[in-house]
Amino acid sequence: MGMFDKKSQPENPEIAECDRQLAALEARRREMYFNIGRTYAGQNTAESAKGTPYGEFMQELEKVDRNKDFYEKRRLALQGLRKCEKCGNILVLDSAFCNKCGEKLEALFQGEETGQKVCSRCGTPYAEGTAFCTNCGNKLA
Ligand SMILES: [Zn+2]
Ligand SMILES: [Zn+2]
Repeated sequence: MGMFDKKSQPENPEIAECDRQLAALEARRREMYFNIGRTYAGQNTAESAKGTPYGEFMQELEKVDRNKDFYEKRRLALQGLRKCEKCGNILVLDSAFCNKCGEKLEALFQGEETGQKVCSRCGTPYAEGTAFCTNCGNKLA
């Protein structure tokens, strides 16, 4: 076994070093892609990206953000809480006004969320024709 055979083995420390460098550079590359995307998303909307190569991605991002917002609100509502959209204060779910900034609190959920009809009070999905929310008893529209 000469030098030549040894170099083709994966345990060759110089090859291993190349692999380490390549893995680190690939990770850095992904990080840069992420930064480029985040910068673009911070300066555009699904509307402004329409017709560009980013249009579909921006549309999907807005949908993901809407759903994320829904699950964050629903998670709090299931604990009997809600967040004031204006100041971020956490309040009792049925509060009419924010006790910190005085903001009037509207229905937490409206109509459809994540493609389903949901209770306006707690966000629990319901089937058409159901009269009361199975989770909180709220009268359904
Ligand atoms: Zn507030
Ligand atoms: Zn409910």
